Amino acid sequence: MSQIVTRFAPSPTGHLHVGGARTALFNWLLARQQGGRFVLRIEDTDAQRSTDEFTQAILSAMTWLNLDWDGEPVYQSQRLALHREYIDRMVAEGKAYWCHCKPEELEERRQKALASGGKPKYDGLCREKNLGPAPGAVIRFKGPEDGETGWDDLIKGPVVFDNRELDDLIILKSDGMPTYNMAVVVDDVTMGITHIIRGDDHVNNTPRQILLYKAIGAALPIFGHVPMILGADKTRLSKRHGATSVMAYKEMGYLPQALINYLARLGWSHGDQEIFSLEEMKQLFDLSHVGSSAGVFNTEKLNWLNSHYIKETPPAELAELVWPYLEAKGYAKPDGETLVKIILTVRERGKTLVELAEKADFYFQDLPPLDEKAAAKFLTPENKEMLKSLKGILDKPLIAEGFEELLRRLAEERGIKLGAVAQPLRVALTGQTASPGLFEILDILGPEKTLKRIDAALLI
Ligand code: GLU
Repeated sequence: MSQIVTRFAPSPTGHLHVGGARTALFNWLLARQQGGRFVLRIEDTDAQRSTDEFTQAILSAMTWLNLDWDGEPVYQSQRLALHREYIDRMVAEGKAYWCHCKPEELEERRQKALASGGKPKYDGLCREKNLGPAPGAVIRFKGPEDGETGWDDLIKGPVVFDNRELDDLIILKSDGMPTYNMAVVVDDVTMGITHIIRGDDHVNNTPRQILLYKAIGAALPIFGHVPMILGADKTRLSKRHGATSVMAYKEMGYLPQALINYLARLGWSHGDQEIFSLEEMKQLFDLSHVGSSAGVFNTEKLNWLNSHYIKETPPAELAELVWPYLEAKGYAKPDGETLVKIILTVRERGKTLVELAEKADFYFQDLPPLDEKAAAKFLTPENKEMLKSLKGILDKPLIAEGFEELLRRLAEERGIKLGAVAQPLRVALTGQTASPGLFEILDILGPEKTLKRIDAALLI
């Protein structure tokens, strides 16, 4: 078989959402695993709703997900002359016709048809009139009046439509713009797309497009319709369910590998395996193992994958990924080594980069706010006296093991457990009863900040 070419064809009327990203991923995988091409086509013919900002946002989201495309993105709005050429040719060949019916007339006839039990489709009034252009006129495809149109869908299996259900669809609107179905077919044909993988909200368009392929005399591509993603309540995933855009997941502190792994597994499985690198997916992905029923978006599972990839990320890299969330709070960047130390202490304590930044916040605050309950329980007069005595031994820099040794000795001398020393000190340094390891904290804060926090705790 000749080289396969897949495409992702988003309309820049909104951000890239997770459903679109999954469609893009499947197309990307199919092309990449077979040494084919994956192209990006921006379907920006709806001038009112398409914006450059959304185009840029979609490109950034694709880049963030590491879904690279071949060549420059293709802009559908720059291909209108080509669309028109195909449309005119169809008219010249008698495969399409000018229609002068006015929207009000169409509506009236549609209502009449409905009232008498007929179908609300175009009644074919202009079909054989051989009309030419006129103000307000459209061009319609002369569809077959009987028979069936079907295809063997890579995901859904055989799908068949009765041609009588299909309208003589408009291919050129009265404003001179091609309709979606026509523009997509011309673009897919001329861009040599061999496999069309898209959301199953397009299933009803596919028989119409197949008829256009046939009218043009082009070879049919292979179609695969990916089921949509549902929210927990089993309705289509939408803003009501929370974040749906890819970049919102970035902002919430998800790693692209986690989101990609999650989206791949949402519809596809390979035995019991849950973790897949992009490279591995490329080798193992198989569209015939993508289920045909809709998947429910499960944040818990995404979190689990994100934790996994957070742990897998080399510490220095992870530190740089978490840093922007701390920087946003106005903190000055510590030296690289300290930042890595900080991140290592919180790495297993959060599921997202945002949570890691929250867990690391106390290191950066001038004086972390003291939790009232923790202070009442642990900053007792007796413990304060003990903390005061600690000042004399915590005033020099030591590495974590050094502090451990020191505090153990002190606990022994006082005949108390290490915890009885550690917990008040933890509250004084972090404001909380739960925190990363105390000895690492002492090492990271250093003597000056440590003493400052103890002094502040002694004052309450
Ligand atoms: N532009 C269409 C959309 O965003 C996709 C068209 C297609 O994949 O055929 O829904």
